[in-house]
Formats: sequence, structure tokens, C-alpha cells
Amino acid sequence: MLNRRTFLNSMPAAVLAIRSVVFSESLQAQQGTPANMAPGGQMAGSPEGAILPGQKWKAHDRSRPQARKVVSGLPLPQERAASDATVLFDGKDLSQWSSRGRDGQLSEPKWKIDSDFMEMVPRSGSLVTKEKFGDCQLHLEWMTPTGTDPSRRGQMRGNSGVILMGHYEIQILSSFDNITYADGAAGGIYGLYPPLVNPCRPEGEWNTYDIVFRAPVFKGQDVAKPGFLTLFFNGLLAHDHVELLGSTDVLPLAKYQPHGAEEPFTLQGHAGPVRYRNIWIRRLQGYDS
Ligand code: MG
Repeated sequence: MLNRRTFLNSMPAAVLAIRSVVFSESLQAQQGTPANMAPGGQMAGSPEGAILPGQKWKAHDRSRPQARKVVSGLPLPQERAASDATVLFDGKDLSQWSSRGRDGQLSEPKWKIDSDFMEMVPRSGSLVTKEKFGDCQLHLEWMTPTGTDPSRRGQMRGNSGVILMGHYEIQILSSFDNITYADGAAGGIYGLYPPLVNPCRPEGEWNTYDIVFRAPVFKGQDVAKPGFLTLFFNGLLAHDHVELLGSTDVLPLAKYQPHGAEEPFTLQGHAGPVRYRNIWIRRLQGYDS
């Protein structure tokens, strides 16, 4: 088995290849019109047209540049969880998860397990962790399987997401060659920031997210300290301790909704299919703790 350190040391640079992509097809033509979208691909209820705080872009701004495509040279080692991690999925069962329907009701999860992964089952809701988490390091692996209906494009192709504390979504989408608005691509903090780069692998190949999350702190209804998020996407930095502007699922975007110091996180059941494997999480503590 390839030694990870040897492999990394032998790499000529942080990346093996960089190529730009020119998108000639119109976004609207690619996205189609799924059930929860208006013609043109606008998400129902999306606050398009609102300038994002501290940015020059609007949410889902079609003129915002796509993240630069980069091929990650890092291997996918299918590493085991750290010894101090809480293992949330190791291929065996969904005992750490509940299913949450659109009505918010919790039930037994209906996603299926096959081999060492779990797969979203359409219209079966999202998965939420039974345990609550705040500051954390989260590792997970995901893929859009091959054979996905070719008519599914844009936000309808492999759409899931990691929604930290039920409020802050890191998008999961088939983004190797599937265009959507920049802040809705894989690795984007939905509606707020595109990823710094797009190292998404082709369908049928596993991707990794390694997330470092600092939860926001609330004092009553006010934000005493915003949340911060760092993401390594297939080993490459996609968000660098970026300040979260608020929930990604409320209107307007970039508005905080007070919540607990720890909350469950969600694997979004949206417009799959999508698969997950090897999910583990570590609670973060300070020095000398
Ligand atoms: Mg999503």
C-alpha cells in the first residue's frame, strides 16, 4: 500500500494539473425545471437579487465566476476514523441517524446501505444525526453514482449537502462537468460562497470533505460571535476560515437564526442520487483541555 507521506513528498506541487473551463451552454438550458425551481433554475423562495454582505455578488449570481477546476493529486486512502472520533457511519448501519421528513418529523432512516456506503433514497427525507455537535472536525466521503439520469442537470444532479447544525449547508452536487450558479456548486457554502477551487471528481469516484467548523455563539437573539468554516475538498483548501453570514436555508440568506450551542447535522435528502461512506466527527477543544 502506498505510504501517504511518501506519496505527498513526491508530488511536484500542490496540484497535478490545472485547467480552465469555458462554459458555452446556457445555465438555464442545462438546469431544466425541477419541481422546486422556477423556470430558469431559480430555487423557489431564493432571495436572488439580494447583495451578500461584504461581497459584490448577489446570492446565486449568474455572473459570479465559476470556481477554478483543479485536479487534486491527493489519494483517497479510505482512512479509518481517528481514535477520539465519533464514528457516524462505517458502512454497517444507520444507528447514529434519524430520518427527517419535510414535516420535520423524525423516523427510522430509509436510506439504503450497500457494500460500505449508504445511498439516498428519493423522497425519503434527510438524515440527521442523533447526537448534537458544535465546534467540530468532520470527515466524510461522497459520490454521485454513474448512471444518473442525463436529463438531470444543474441543481437536480446529485444534490445533497452537509448542513451543519441544521443551518449551514456545504453543498454536495455533481460538479465535475455540471454547471450551476457558482455559490451552489459542490463545496460551496450554499448561496454565500463558491469554493475557492473545484476539485470535484467525475461521477462514480469518491470525493472527500474535511471540515473544520467553529459554531456561532448567540446571546439571546443576537450573534455574539459568528461561525467560521474551513473546508478541504479532496485535500485542497476550498474555504479558509471563512465567516458564516448566517443560515443558508432562511430568507434572506446571511441572517442568523439563534440555536443551541450544539445541534444535529444533516445530510440533505434533495435531488440525488448520492452516496456517502466513512463519516466521522471529532469535537474540538482548546489548548490544554
Ligand atoms: Mg444541497
